Amino acid sequence: MTGISDILRWIEDVYGGVLVYSGRRDDCLCEKKFTGGLEEGLVVDTLAYYDRENKEIIICECNLSESIRYFRIRGDAIKTYILYVLTHEFCHHLLDVAKLSIDRSGVLKIDEPFCEFLALNAIATGSIHFLNFVLKLNIDTESHKRFLPYISMLPRPPPYKYFRELFARAYALGLRIDRIYLCLLSKVAKLPVESPDPNILVRLLYITTLSGEHNFIKMENLPTLRNVGVARVWICGCSKKTTF
Ligand SMILES: [Zn+2]
Ligand SMILES: [Zn+2]
Repeated sequence: MTGISDILRWIEDVYGGVLVYSGRRDDCLCEKKFTGGLEEGLVVDTLAYYDRENKEIIICECNLSESIRYFRIRGDAIKTYILYVLTHEFCHHLLDVAKLSIDRSGVLKIDEPFCEFLALNAIATGSIHFLNFVLKLNIDTESHKRFLPYISMLPRPPPYKYFRELFARAYALGLRIDRIYLCLLSKVAKLPVESPDPNILVRLLYITTLSGEHNFIKMENLPTLRNVGVARVWICGCSKKTTF
C-alpha cells in the first residue's frame, strides 16, 4: 500500500528537489474553496491549488482521492495522475514567478489550458520547458506515457479542455507554446473582464496561429524566468489518510 506522502516523496525526487514535500497542514482553504462536483468534469485546481502569496502548492487529499475513485484511476496510473496534478500546479508557479499570470475568471482563465498542456507535455517528453526555464524530470517517460491518453481523455470544462486545441496547433504547426501564450495573454488582457463566448480562447488561438503573429515576438522581448526557486508542497488536513 502506498500513501500520498510516499508519492509526494517520489515526486520530490522526480523534480530533483525543485518541489519539496513539507508535510501536513490544517490551515488550508480547500474546504471553503472547493465546491464543484466531479460530474462537471476534471478541474485539476480543485484537487490541489497554488497559493500565490506564499508560493506554495497545497494538495487536498480528500478531493484528490475522491477524483481517483470517480475517474477509476488504478494501480500504477495513480502515480502518473498525481504527478500530472502537481505539475499543473507547478506550472502556475512558473507563470506566477514570470509575472505572466492574469487574474481572469471563467472562460478567460488563460493559464488553465496552458498549465494542462505543459503538465501533460512534461510527462510525455520528460521535461518542463517554458521560456528559458527547462527542468529535466527524473522519470522513465515510457512507463508513464501509457497512462496519458486516459488522463487526457477525462472530461474537463472550459477553459481547461482547450489544452487539446493547444496540442493540435502546436504539434501540427511546430509552434513554441510560450510564444503562443504571450500572444494570447496580451489579447486576453485587452478583453472585458467577462466574456459571453465560451470558445473565446480557441478563437483567439486560431487567429493568432493562423496569422503567425506569435512569430513576431523578438527573442530579446521574451521574458526571463529568474529565481524560480523551490516550491513547497503541503497536504491539507481536511481528511483522513488514504492509501491507494
Ligand atoms: Zn482539503
Ligand atoms: Zn490550474
